[in-house]
Amino acid sequence: MLSQIIALILLVLVSFPVYVSAVSEEIVVYSARKEHLIKPLFDKYTKKTGVKIKYITGNEGVLLERLKAEDKNTPADMLITVDAGNLWHAAQEGVLQPVKSDVLEASIPENLRDPDGNWFGLSVRARTIVYNTEKVDPALLSSYKGLSGDQWKGKLVLRTSRKVYNQSLVASLIAEHGEEQTARIVQGWVNNLAAAPFSNDTKALEAVAAGIGQATIVNTYYFGRLMKKKPDLPLAIFWPNQKEGGVHMNVSGAGITKHADNRDGAVKLLEWLAGEEAQSQFAALNMEYPVNQVIPPAPIVAAWGTFEGSPLNVALYGKLQTDAIKLMDRAGYK
Ligand code: FE
Repeated sequence: MLSQIIALILLVLVSFPVYVSAVSEEIVVYSARKEHLIKPLFDKYTKKTGVKIKYITGNEGVLLERLKAEDKNTPADMLITVDAGNLWHAAQEGVLQPVKSDVLEASIPENLRDPDGNWFGLSVRARTIVYNTEKVDPALLSSYKGLSGDQWKGKLVLRTSRKVYNQSLVASLIAEHGEEQTARIVQGWVNNLAAAPFSNDTKALEAVAAGIGQATIVNTYYFGRLMKKKPDLPLAIFWPNQKEGGVHMNVSGAGITKHADNRDGAVKLLEWLAGEEAQSQFAALNMEYPVNQVIPPAPIVAAWGTFEGSPLNVALYGKLQTDAIKLMDRAGYK
């Protein structure tokens, strides 16, 4: 009897630390990337490592406010969001902490992560020109700047300047051309508009397909999604700026929260997400390009052709965001 009691005590003592470590191993993620784009990866990671991942998804602004309000008490270890402008903003708000990781530095090109290590790109989207194949001779297309010329009067369709994607695009133009010339470009776009700016990329694409305008600027995956649903639409991608600066590139990405309880676990997850095993799926789920250059894009994405992307560090989009917003405002770009 006594030996049974001792055995029981030993069993409790032995299993208790195991229980504790299992709980502390759990990773909590706040994600502005939608559930269907992250859950398959998290499930795979849990299956492989046994580490549980809890997550909530929501609007990036709401998640950021929540992180700020929770401060030291946040359950979150990692923030996932889209657009370098948003990632940069989260770092500025002080909710992220720098990470130094050889794995992340080897997996992710330098221009697609924060120079200070507060966030890392995990997938890449190009913001490119899409045109109506029945109305536009692609030989007349050249660059983002080209769309500001008089020959596009009444033919250009744009998404609203309120969206961070366009703020990042204009920020990159400021980095490349300077404020003065960018102001002329954006003014030219506004003068050329075929209709008031649309609320999202898909509506802009549909307006071009319907002939309301002839060309627009959108993220590649919106083109991919729409063409998957309606393959007969008269739309095609044009890769701009091939001789001047490259196509505007942006990322979805993640950072470790400043008050992460499970910092090490979250860093390991981040390293795995940037690695070969996760990368093709992470990008393919949203028809994006893998950030890890070792991995080729999914066939449907590769079919859009190869192009020169901008080598600018995407952190610049955050740094120049305020200037970009003011500039668009002055140009009357709604
Ligand atoms: Fe998007």
